[in-house]
Order: sequence, then structure tokens, then C-alpha cells
Amino acid sequence: MDIDISVRESAEGADHVIHLDALVIGAGIAGIYQLHRLRELGLNVRAFETGSGVGGTWYWNRYPGARFDSQVEAYQFWISKELYAAWKPSERYPAQPETERWLNFVADRLDLKKDIQLNTRIASAHYNEDSGRWLVTTSAGQQIDTQYLVACCGMLSAPLTDRFPGQASFKGQLLHTALWPKGEVDLAGKRIAVIGTGATGIQVVQSVAPLAKHLKVFVRTPQYILPMKNYKYDQAEWDKWSSQFDELKLRVRQTFTGFPFDFEVGPWAEKTPAERLAVLEAFWEKGSLELWLGTFAEMFFDPSINEEISEFVRGKMRARLNNDPALCDLLVPKTEDYGFGTHRVPLETKYLEVYLRDNVEGVNCRTAPIERIVPEGIMTADGKVHEVDVIIMALGFDAGSGALSRIDIRGRDGRSLKAQWQQEIRTALGMQVHGYPNLFMTGAPLAPAAALCNMTTCLQQQADWITGCISHARSQDRDVVEVSKTFEDEWVAHHDAVAAATLVVKTDSWYMGSNVEGKPRRLLSYIGGGAAYNAKCNELAETGYPGFGMISIQRRGMETMNAYYGQEGHGPYTLYNIGDLTLEDGGVIPACELAVATFGKLNAAKDNAVLIPTWYSGTNKIIEQVLIGEGRALDPTRYFLIIVNQIGNGLSTSPHNAGGDLAGAAFPHVRIGDDVRAQHKLITENFGIERLALVVGGSMGAQQSYEWAVRYPEMVARVGAIAGTARNTELDFLFAETLIEAITSDPGFAGGSYAAASDVAAGLARHARLWTVSGWSDEFFRQGKHLAMGFDSIGGFVANFMVPYFAPMDPNNLLCMAWKWQRGDVSRHTNGDLAAALGRIKARTFVLPISHDNLFPPADCAAEQRLIPNSELHVLESGDGHLGLFGTDPAMLAQLDTHLKALLES
Ligand code: NAP
Repeated sequence: MDIDISVRESAEGADHVIHLDALVIGAGIAGIYQLHRLRELGLNVRAFETGSGVGGTWYWNRYPGARFDSQVEAYQFWISKELYAAWKPSERYPAQPETERWLNFVADRLDLKKDIQLNTRIASAHYNEDSGRWLVTTSAGQQIDTQYLVACCGMLSAPLTDRFPGQASFKGQLLHTALWPKGEVDLAGKRIAVIGTGATGIQVVQSVAPLAKHLKVFVRTPQYILPMKNYKYDQAEWDKWSSQFDELKLRVRQTFTGFPFDFEVGPWAEKTPAERLAVLEAFWEKGSLELWLGTFAEMFFDPSINEEISEFVRGKMRARLNNDPALCDLLVPKTEDYGFGTHRVPLETKYLEVYLRDNVEGVNCRTAPIERIVPEGIMTADGKVHEVDVIIMALGFDAGSGALSRIDIRGRDGRSLKAQWQQEIRTALGMQVHGYPNLFMTGAPLAPAAALCNMTTCLQQQADWITGCISHARSQDRDVVEVSKTFEDEWVAHHDAVAAATLVVKTDSWYMGSNVEGKPRRLLSYIGGGAAYNAKCNELAETGYPGFGMISIQRRGMETMNAYYGQEGHGPYTLYNIGDLTLEDGGVIPACELAVATFGKLNAAKDNAVLIPTWYSGTNKIIEQVLIGEGRALDPTRYFLIIVNQIGNGLSTSPHNAGGDLAGAAFPHVRIGDDVRAQHKLITENFGIERLALVVGGSMGAQQSYEWAVRYPEMVARVGAIAGTARNTELDFLFAETLIEAITSDPGFAGGSYAAASDVAAGLARHARLWTVSGWSDEFFRQGKHLAMGFDSIGGFVANFMVPYFAPMDPNNLLCMAWKWQRGDVSRHTNGDLAAALGRIKARTFVLPISHDNLFPPADCAAEQRLIPNSELHVLESGDGHLGLFGTDPAMLAQLDTHLKALLES
């Protein structure tokens, strides 16, 4: 075999470590494009490619007949119209040599080759948690230290080669389609065997049949096929397509499969049988994949519709085989095999007619499986030896996960991607895997690009998203990007739910991983459609990549000091850098970050935004769990809900994660007004919102809501102030003071310079007990609600619920919030005149105290409500007290929903 699969010794030598911003694995379609995009970003990036030339799939698969079956006008790079127009394809479905030349042309035009190291196989990639970087080693021992590792390894690039015992004993020539030798392979006049009749085998068979002395095709599972109508493209044809560049570029990202066509013939149910047949006939004549991917989407869901379409195709196939019973039995799938389109449908050119030739014989290796390769040829289970000169194996690939699993990839804590994927194949959007920070991938499992997509479309879309994500992280001064476990779980669940509704999961094929023994079964490709996937990706990019944690290595020491805070437990949320925040009480928080979780979509009028600030110690997660849901008042299908974590709560900039001069106890005093000014910047500058439909929050969230209404009266249409006041009372101030003392009096607190929250465990436990006493009400315990929660006594409740709740929290963070809470007072704006401050409010305001709240009793709230124009008081009846905010009383939540719905509709 003279294809160059050996790898060269590194020119730089094994002892010299190269330092890169980004390393791209592979120089196929995705690798080339990714390299180009990251270079545009100004990164020091290099691609490493095992082959001795660029092209990826189109480098390795140089077997006879190799060509793509997407129309060439759609199988393109969308980099520029000039580039598109400059390459003139010779035909509708160009063959491999032309495609390889095209990819070289693109790489040359973009001057990419100087940054591509060929003949280099990546052997391992190990993540270093201290540096946030990857150490990559080639099989020649060259080492590369890189911040980002972008694997563009291809979804069909790990060929299945060693499949039969005795392969090495074969006296003739053994060829694998995906490792086809460069240069001429003389097949003329030879006795040839082809094993495998997937898309590859079919192309080989139809191409070598006329050359062979004798051809034996080993057929196991028959294939549904569609005829390819290929024809030459002249200059006029290409000019026509080039003039449509902009529309095509847009269109391919809006369709289900990344082609310029979609399922647009109308519903099956609304057509008569004659009309359906007319559609199928017309699309059969098109000679493209459109009959499969551009007619009736119902074929993927409804077994009876699928059977009718399958039978249409079978009828066409039988006719082409002259209805020969033996050939039909061998080559036409049966109903019980699987349905049309439930795995890859290849395009072919006179493939079936090949079997009518005298020099071609189909061997049924379903009834007589291949046992082994012997020196003379192939031995089947019936004891027969099929003597041949050449064996061509077209046995497919370990698809999607195979290429990455063949590299020793180790993420955080040394975890192995291969080992994980041997158990279960999981990714987030097919682009990241939790536990592997700064590793991005294209064409990997659980994205359309893993199979169900026109590859150029989906790979460029992924590379664009990855580029955007990296660019965003850098703009935020973040070094490490890692998807949260929660996001990944949600994506996997969504992927599976979409897949489960289809017939595809019922058919064995490489789509399901069932062609590789022991591979965990899961549909490799996301089947919700390219358009939906794009929309999801775009939404993430527009909202700052929620679910993708981004940290700064310099500050990471502080952040990891307390593992409680982070995407894992509280995500997904996005960090927004709102710039330097000058504080009311003096000092500046440089590059202040707000952690923000959003739900729903901002409408075109931008008038459905609801802002929800957080309460003491709470994060976006608890608010999501307690207040948000379809059919609830805060319904993400109607409103764009923005939960902003307050400064100091551990997710937004806080003492424990600030680092530098502001770290820990040195963190400056922050007031409610500072949070609200920071939020205002976020709302106006990041989201472009000029008016909020509602600002609603509980406790400290209510303090912030009032501050919004007083400070920016024109911007706030409505306010819902739950269990909180606009001006803190003296008693409340004193309660917060006891919380502060409980913590600071712990010797482990050490003036705020403790090493870990656990050093202040005693102080945090005292703080938890104080919260038990005042946060819940007498009524809560009288009703035995703590017992109903599974605790045997109030002591057990404190020890096993309240103390553990606060124990992991950072003491300096809590103190930051407590100080802020104590000084919540909108009358700062009016020289202490509360009536004047509240009189400024233009928002329709609902004051919503909790009946048994010890901290913000209804009487305090009612007194303020009387000072607010256009306001109403609605007391939420609940014996749970202030901490009923955590959703312990469903009846109270129902009341709250009723009031908020009424407020939103007023
Ligand atoms: P494949 O679809 O996985 O087909 C592998 C073939 O090998 C199947 O027919 C399989 O039979 C057979 N096989 C495997 N083990 C066997 C055994 N022990 N005995 C007998 N037969 C055995 O692989 P592929 O043909 O390389 O195609 C993979 C994908 O590449 C395609 O689906 C397509 O997405 C892509 N491709 C695209 C083009 C194009 O654009 N035109 C061309 C080629 C490939 P069973 O089905 O019974 O397992």
C-alpha cells in the first residue's frame, strides 16, 4: 500500500515544545475552515494532519468511483462569493480527484498551508488544570502546548480495517477504500471481491465491474438506493450558481439537512394516493437525495407512510433488476429489514444493472457469512473459498466517536474520553464534553454534523460557533471554556427525546453505532434538524453562551477555593462583563461581571422583558425552580426572563472570585444601587432593552426592584416586590448585624483571610441557626413542616438542612450581601424622604408581603405601599414565613402566580 500513512519525525524535534493559542486536528473540510476562522481571530493556530496532503475524507477515500452525492453548488465553503465563483466544478457531483484539487485550491487561496503540518498523527492530548491548557503529543513524540484544542477529525475517518481473521495471510492485494493507495491501482482483468455495499461499496462496485475479469460482491444487508443524475457544468451554469451565492449561503442554514431544499411538498395526509405517487415519481427523476430529504418528513415517523415510500423505491429497484427473483432477494430490502431512509440512502449510477453483467456475481453473506480470509481469497460459512486476486474492503467506519477515541484524550482529573464513550457517548451540541475544558469538536456525536447534514454546511456552522465562543471568552478575559454538566445532560435528554420519536433509532446502522461491536447504542446525529440546531447555537451566542462556563486562570485559584459556586450547581448562566463599576460608597470593581440566566425570547418590540434580581444567598437556580415555568406567571414562552445574580452572591463578581486587590475581605462595599446601575448597563447595552415589562424579586430582590422603580421610573412598567421593603427597618438592620457577627466572631474567619469556608464552619452554623429562628416562622414549626420534610426534630432540621445549606458558602460573600441588605434604602435619592422617593415610582406596583414574615412583616410593607402611586397590596397567606420564598408552600406560590399574572396583564 503506497498511501502515506506513516508519520514523519517532527522537524522541530521531540524535545522542543511548540506553544499555540489553538491547535486544530485535521485538515479536511472542517479543519481547513476552522484554521481559517481562528486565524482571522488573530490566534496563533496550527492544524495537524495525518495525511500527506489536505482534504481529509477527500484525501483518504480515493477509491474508484468516490464522489460526493450533494450537489456541488451546495457542497461549498461560504467564505466569499469570489472564492465560490473562482473554482469551476466540472459536474454536478464531482469525483474525488476534483474535490481533492478543490480543497487544495481553497487552502492555497487562503494561504493556509503554511499553518498546516502534514504527515502528523496526534496521539494524545492531556489537559493541565493548573494552566488551563492542553499538552498534545504526536505519534512522533513532538509536543505542543495549546490553549484551545479543536478536533476536526471527521465523523467518518476511523475506518474499520481488521475485520476478519486471516487478513494478513492473503496472497493477493487487500485494499481498504478509506486507505486507498495514491496513484494507479491496476484492477483491469483481475478477479476482484468487494465486501460491503454501503455508499462506498456501491460506488466501488459500479466503477470496477467493467474493469474486472470477475467481480464478486459480498452483500449482507441490501440497500435502498436512489439514482444519481450527474451532468457536466459549464461556465454559464456555474455563473448562474455564483450569482445565487448570498441566497444559497443563507438558505443552507435554514433547512433541515443543510441543503438548499427542504421538506416542502406538503403533508402526506393531505394528498391523494395519485398525488403522492406523482411527487415520488417527480423526485425520483431529480436524481438527487431530495426524494429522501426533501419530500415527506412523515417517512421518518410513521411506519405505514414509510412502508409506502419504501415499496415505491423497492418497485423501482425490482424493475431495474428485471424482476429477477434471486437478484431481488439479494439486493432489494424487505419490509422486515428496515424502512427507506432510516439509514443513509446512497446515490448510485447503474449500480443494480451491474448484477446483470456476466462477470459479476452477488454473494449472499447473510446466509453464508464470511468466516475468514485465506491465502486464496474469502472463505464463507458454507465452506466455500471464493478465490480472488484483489479484495476491496468497504466495511465502513467507527463513526462519530471513533476518530476522537483513537486519540488518548484526558480531561480534568485525568478522565479519558475514550473510556467515557465506551460507556456512553455524550456531548453538548456535539461541540464540547463536560470535563474537557477548552476542547471543541466538529462532526462529533449528537450534532447534525455527525451524519444528517450536508457536511460543508454543518461543519462550517460548527466552526463558526466555536470561533464565536472562543472570541467571546477572550473578550471577557476568560481563558477556559467548559460546558456544564447540566447543559450537557439537558442536551443529551433533548437529543434522545427527538431521536426516540423517529424510526431511525429502530434500524441498525452506523447511525446508531451498531456496526461496531460493543459500541454503546445512541443515534450519533442530532435529528432535530440543522435549522433548529443553528437557532439553538445562535441563541446561545446571542445570550453570551449560557451553560458554557468561562473562567480566568489568574482568578481561578480563588474561584475553585469554593467549588460550590459554578455552572455545575447553579448553571446554566452567562457571565457578562459590564465594564468598570464605580461604587456609591467609593472604590471601583474593574471589569465587573454579572452572572445572568435567561429564559424565553426577547420579542421584536423588546417589550416582554422581565428582570428578576436575586435574594440573599440565592442564585438564579432557585429562582428558576421556584418562579419560572410554562403556564406560570413567569412563563418563558411569553416573556424574556432575565435573572441577574446580585454582586457578591458568588456567581457574579464577588469577594471569593474577585482576585487581586479586591479579593476576599478586601472586596469593597457594594450597595443595592450599585447592583441596579450594573443591571441597567446590562439591560440597555447588552440586551438593547429600553423598558422592562416587570421587575420582580423577593427579599433583597424586592429591594433591588424598588431601587429600579425609583432610580429609573421611565424604564419600569411594573414592579412586584415580594417579601421585602424599599427601606430597611432598624430591626432588620439588627438582624443582619447578628448574621454578620455570627460569622466574624468565628476565630477561623481570621479577619476574612480564612483559606476555605470550612474554616468558618462554626460561624456559618451559627448564621444558619439565626436564619432558622427568623427566616421561618413559628407557624412553620407549629404545623410540623420541618417534620414533613423528613427531619425528626427542629434540631435535625437545623443540623441536616439549614447548616448544610449555608456551609459551602463563602463567608466574605455572605458578608458582602448582608452589608448591602442592611443599607437598602430608596430614600437615599431624596435626602431621606421615603414618601418623596416612593412617589417617584411610575410603575404599576404590587406589594406582596408574606403573612408570617418576621423579617419584612406585612405591616412594614403596607406602610410603604400607601406611599406608592398606582400600587396594590396583596398579602401572600403562608405560615412558612420569609423563607417560604424557597417554594416550600405550593399554595403560596399559587397566590403569587395569580397576583403576578394580574399585574402582568394590567
Ligand atoms: P457503511 O455504510 O457502514 O457500509 C459498510 C458495509 O460493509 C455494509 O454493507 C456492511 O453490511 C458491510 N459489512 C460490514 N461488516 C461486514 C461483514 N463482516 N461481512 C459482510 N459485510 C460487512 O460504510 P460506507 O459504505 O463506507 O459508508 C459510510 C458512510 O460514508 C455513508 O453512509 C455515507 O454517509 C458516507 N459516504 C458518502 C459517500 C458520498 O457522498 N457519495 C460515499 C461513500 C460514503 P451491513 O449493512 O450488513 O452491516
